[in-house]
Amino acid sequence: MQNNQPTRKATYIGGSNYRRNAYGTNHPLSIPRVSLATDLILAYGAMTDAEFKLARKAADYELEWFHTPEYVSAFKRAEALGRVSNPVRQRHHLGTLENPYFEQFFTIPATATGASVQAADEVVNGRIGFNPAGGMHHARPDAAHGFCYFNDTVLGIMRLRQQGWRVLYIDIDAHHGDGVEEAFLDDPEVFTLSLHMDNYAYPFKAGQVSDTARAGHTSLNVPLPKATNDAEYRLAFDAVWQPVLDKFKPDAIVLQAGTDMIFADPLGKLGMTTQGFLSIAETILNTSPCHADGTPRLLVTGGGGYHPLVLARAWTGLWALLSGRELPVDLPATGIDALRSVPWDMDEDEPHFAQLFISRLDAESDTHIRTEIHDLILAIQQHPYLKAS
Ligand SMILES: [Zn+2]
Repeated sequence: MQNNQPTRKATYIGGSNYRRNAYGTNHPLSIPRVSLATDLILAYGAMTDAEFKLARKAADYELEWFHTPEYVSAFKRAEALGRVSNPVRQRHHLGTLENPYFEQFFTIPATATGASVQAADEVVNGRIGFNPAGGMHHARPDAAHGFCYFNDTVLGIMRLRQQGWRVLYIDIDAHHGDGVEEAFLDDPEVFTLSLHMDNYAYPFKAGQVSDTARAGHTSLNVPLPKATNDAEYRLAFDAVWQPVLDKFKPDAIVLQAGTDMIFADPLGKLGMTTQGFLSIAETILNTSPCHADGTPRLLVTGGGGYHPLVLARAWTGLWALLSGRELPVDLPATGIDALRSVPWDMDEDEPHFAQLFISRLDAESDTHIRTEIHDLILAIQQHPYLKAS
């Protein structure tokens, strides 16, 4: 094992109940995610006991910073009852195909949500906080949406706001961070920036550049064409990132790091590699506002990601980045075993199976995509927030 000691202060919030199969058996999220990423990190020996904190369940009063008391109590009742009643299903979108009922129905999402508040506490206390089980950016105050039950991302931002900090939220999940955008649309102390798939994907017809291009809105959307690759994504990202940092001057950053933006994802349609994903995260890390000792004031959550093997590798690389470690590209034998134990046949023949990164051989630039990205950048530059002097 080489360089497995941290060079940056970071805390990983994990939990024992993530080993349960949440979301039942027939859902894109009924795959090992945080548990597999944790196994791979541990296989590398890349986490000390001091860096790990066990996730705690969010208290009702914390959930109610954003969610309605009716939603929270209906949710708890469903867990106690062992099923979702029809009126609750209709009003709160719980127990549907999209947001199915499962064992520990309230406990598991409430724990993933408490973990984002904990991760925000870590940031307040001078460390980077990483909650891979978080990033449930579609949840609404009174309803579940798009596989998201509680909006831990909103609660994490609210915890940082309690410090009086201005918070910049950057969402690189393949899907539009609509629940977070909506929550803070009229709060001038929170800026929400989302790069995502255009109208061809969930939540459809949302997240256009023009949607929030109204004076006073601290929000910006970057809808990307299908198959956008690393270089094209970088062009769009660079057109917004530094200008927003310069204008908004945040005190802290919240990064939603969904891995469905990587090309192999079964629900994502972008053309990014794991290295492209990590390179964007690295820029965010390196430009984040810092504590006096130079530790970035950065809260990182997980998010979407429906290819377990790609997700585990990407979040292992992300954790290495956050904690300041350099990991060998060749996976340790126990890490390979952990990946092989997942019943997943999509890339058994992948030539890079035994490595931390998966490569992409067909990632040349497409003129059509370049033109669309160019037009997108022109539209971004016309956004009233960036234009205002
Ligand atoms: Zn997503």
